[in-house]
Amino acid sequence: MPNFDEFGPEKIFEVYDPKSGMHGFLVIDNTARGPGKGGIRMTPTVDKEEVCRLARAMTLKCALADLPFGGAKGGIIADDKKISKEKKKEIVEAFSDALKPVCPSQYVSAPDMNMAEEEMRWFANKNGSMKACTGKPSDMGGIPHELGSTGIGVFYATKVAVEHMNLDMKKLKVAVEGFGNVGWFAAKWISDHGAKLIAVSDSKGVIYNKDGLDFDKLDEVKKKTGTVTNYKPGEVLASEKILDVDADVLITAAIPDLIKEKDVNRLKFKLIVEGSNIPTTPEIEEKLHKKGILVIPDFVANAGGVISSYVEYIGGTADDMFKLVEEKITKNTKIVLEEAKKKNVTPRSCAFEIAKKRVIESMKRI
Ligand code: NAD
Repeated sequence: MPNFDEFGPEKIFEVYDPKSGMHGFLVIDNTARGPGKGGIRMTPTVDKEEVCRLARAMTLKCALADLPFGGAKGGIIADDKKISKEKKKEIVEAFSDALKPVCPSQYVSAPDMNMAEEEMRWFANKNGSMKACTGKPSDMGGIPHELGSTGIGVFYATKVAVEHMNLDMKKLKVAVEGFGNVGWFAAKWISDHGAKLIAVSDSKGVIYNKDGLDFDKLDEVKKKTGTVTNYKPGEVLASEKILDVDADVLITAAIPDLIKEKDVNRLKFKLIVEGSNIPTTPEIEEKLHKKGILVIPDFVANAGGVISSYVEYIGGTADDMFKLVEEKITKNTKIVLEEAKKKNVTPRSCAFEIAKKRVIESMKRI
């Protein structure tokens, strides 16, 4: 059963189309600040509860980023790897058709797992409105996530935190977990700004060199061989060993639940920036806070993607997107860190309170 509380969810749809076999969910969590925003994921295991949790995360992320959006999420039960492109198109179109009564008036879609710009093309065309979703191809006026909005935002969150801690970016040693969309841009921007990248991981393992990794060379090796672990010179470690390298900063940009309870004592980072979603739990963040490790939570650090979506939604350009990502991530990370310091609580609990207050104020106004 979904957890109904003071925010929502306002609406839960379960939709099914016997012709295509499409079976999906849309959860509109809260629309006090605007239409519910959130991507659609296509996985064989997605269920109503998962979509509800993700929709709530979007309510908080959009409120904290101070965007005129509520929170929502879509899910389609299908195995992307087992269906043809034609079948996928039929399913996405059937989902779009079923959501027409509420999209785009109460729900604005976007890509999530196994959905990308082409799927958004199908979704928008079937809906009939270009406002139905963001993350569309550029020939439809879209701003692709491939421009790096999330990873660049993660860099700005890191920069603010580094200044807040009175550290010098040029003397920092940084480890980045994951070298996909988010990790690539975060690693590039942090090394372009003078920090020393000493470890980077992907699904094959970690490449570590205490004297530093050259970003351009790393990029070339990844493109040519498919993994960062072929970079030379460097030591190859198992993926989970990213937690043991002697870096000052860890940027997470891959898997959920990377940091577990048993890892807390061995971590030596001064700062952890959550570029990925749910790399740990709030309880573990609490323990890291007590240990003196500053953690910038996911819904503060990785909001660049939804900020980019907003710019696309209002018809802005890629340049507008880069400016707004810098402005909003910088401002919101500063507010959260200053509040957290004043109250001696985790940045997450502070960010949660700020987002909650904004949603409640908007609910009072309508
Ligand atoms: P991606 O698929 O582009 O890249 C994922 C990377 O993680 C790849 O380099 C992969 O090799 C690596 N990886 C997989 N397993 C690993 C392991 N065990 N150890 C180390 N690396 C491993 O994904 P992405 O879009 O960069 O997303 C990464 C995270 O950021 C996810 O949690 C996602 O939900 C979150 N996020 C992404 C965006 C976005 O705009 N892309 C926005 C917000 C949050």
